[in-house]
Amino acid sequence: MNTFDFTAIRRDFPALQQQVYGKPLIYLDSAATAQKPQCVIDTVNDMHARWNANIHRAVHYLATQCTERYEQARETVRRFIHARATQEVVFTSGTTAAINLLAFSFGERRIGAGDEIIVTEAEHHSNIVPWQLLCERKGATLKVVPVDPAGRLQMDSLAALINERTRLLCVAHISNVLGIVNPVKELVRLAHTHGVPVLLDGAQGVVHQPVDVQDMDCDFYVFSGHKLFAPTGIGVLYGRETLLEQLPPWQGGGDMIASVSFAKTSFADLPLKFEAGTANYIGACGLATAIDYLQAIPLAAAHRYEQELTAYTVRRLSTIEGLQVYGEKAPKTGVVSFTIAGVHPLDMATILDKSGVALRTGHLCAEPLMRRFGVSGMLRVSPAFYNTPEEIDTFVAALKTAKKMLVGN
Ligand code: PMP
Repeated sequence: MNTFDFTAIRRDFPALQQQVYGKPLIYLDSAATAQKPQCVIDTVNDMHARWNANIHRAVHYLATQCTERYEQARETVRRFIHARATQEVVFTSGTTAAINLLAFSFGERRIGAGDEIIVTEAEHHSNIVPWQLLCERKGATLKVVPVDPAGRLQMDSLAALINERTRLLCVAHISNVLGIVNPVKELVRLAHTHGVPVLLDGAQGVVHQPVDVQDMDCDFYVFSGHKLFAPTGIGVLYGRETLLEQLPPWQGGGDMIASVSFAKTSFADLPLKFEAGTANYIGACGLATAIDYLQAIPLAAAHRYEQELTAYTVRRLSTIEGLQVYGEKAPKTGVVSFTIAGVHPLDMATILDKSGVALRTGHLCAEPLMRRFGVSGMLRVSPAFYNTPEEIDTFVAALKTAKKMLVGN
């Protein structure tokens, strides 16, 4: 393992200091939601205690301060993902909300009967169902890029699927089941050759890799704060300004208008056109603190360490008889999903929980991918930079004991 100092990092996360059932908590479910460093908790508390006032409305001191912090948070996000302008950074309540915003707004303007939208077999439900609903509303068709037995996207199938009816390609940056980093630049290049815009679901991607939306050249990039060590209820839709300009608002209400009359309402400029109602300004400030935190630690080393810890987890699990890891074993980023012959994932997760090990089980919000691999559910561990090799060892030992209980060896 590299020299990343996870001991110091762990001290920043109060949730990791606790015991469950009298045992030290081993939190291996960060892909579902990450724990929060103290500085993020402090920001949220401090905002509630001292700085709370509704933004973009009143002229009083607190309102001005709060608005300034919210807009600074937008700038922090812009820099973090290297967007050209803050107009391209829309705050939403999360990845799911950002994709639904697009499905309604982009869908309203750009999708009609006979059009096609392409997703992949490895998508999270959040990047399938909004498009399915849109296709039903508009009489469009959802096309699916299959994955190969190693879980990789079949690029020639994608090339064959894109045609003059294709209106959008929607792909995860990193799969939340397989930990595979999709070849996003290649995907974008291919789609753009046909004039097709690309939405990248960055819910996992933004956590484990530096994100540069200009370098990736994607048209939309979405992510959730809560997986990036920030509070829940805040997320981001990045959109290319020229595209966002053309799209109609999704939700109407306060803050998204320039002027309202019964004869005609005009809308605010970007990005507020897409932020109807009171925004989650405290969440946005929490997200900015999380990003500041990430930029203050040696982030590249943290990413490398996560990669090593994931590889170590795969190696340790691979020695267990009857255990199957899904998707190519290396490189894997952030998540390892597996099944054990003769063991129901839920039984295993329940026993592991009593040992203090928190992991995810079930269809992992990716039922089509479960079907592709012929299983109804999997177990998933998702180590973050605050986990240790010793925790992986304890988890694997507990897994072996539980397996013995369940199948006798
Ligand atoms: N896409 C991916 C790849 C995810 O991992 C998740 C969260 N599990 C989502 C979308 C949905 O994120 P949220 O629930 O925060 O909207």
